[in-house]
Amino acid sequence: MPLTPQLADLRRRLALRTRRLLDTGAFTPHPTEPAPAPPTTPCQPTRPVVQLLYCRYLAQYPLDDIRCVAQTRLRHRCTHPVLTPDAPTGTWTLMSATPSHGQLTLPASEMAVYDLGQLPYTEQLRWRAQRCPLHAAASQAADLALAEWEVFDPLMHHLHMHPRLPTAIRHHRGRSK
Ligand SMILES: [Zn+2]
Repeated sequence: MPLTPQLADLRRRLALRTRRLLDTGAFTPHPTEPAPAPPTTPCQPTRPVVQLLYCRYLAQYPLDDIRCVAQTRLRHRCTHPVLTPDAPTGTWTLMSATPSHGQLTLPASEMAVYDLGQLPYTEQLRWRAQRCPLHAAASQAADLALAEWEVFDPLMHHLHMHPRLPTAIRHHRGRSK
């Protein structure tokens, strides 16, 4: 049945109104815009790559969660972190992901590495031994656990290679600053 001009006009206006409502999001049950992340939240890798004593290691835990392996006088494992504010800290740096001596072509040319190579030798030894500053000095304290470093292998551990620095603040797309 052909529509009368009035009905056709009504249908057109209804379609426009629906479109407008869809455009303003009134019909969508959930907001389509993603909730913006707090702008100051850094994204820390769960298993950071750390450079110390001219080697790269893959940590088992985020930097803040790397725990001292020494045994306390109560025969418990020390609960202190290796990364403490009263000891010099490393720097997140973008480093070449390709081994200089290798012939491998890797997709990511640069990766974020927590560089401890600038620290004093004793501090790098402390990180390698995975001890808090207190137990680094107390050499007679036994280790209750093994240091958990894994020698970093760019082929085996490529999932843990991040091309961006973790401290960089993530911005919304289209909002560069
Ligand atoms: Zn300790």
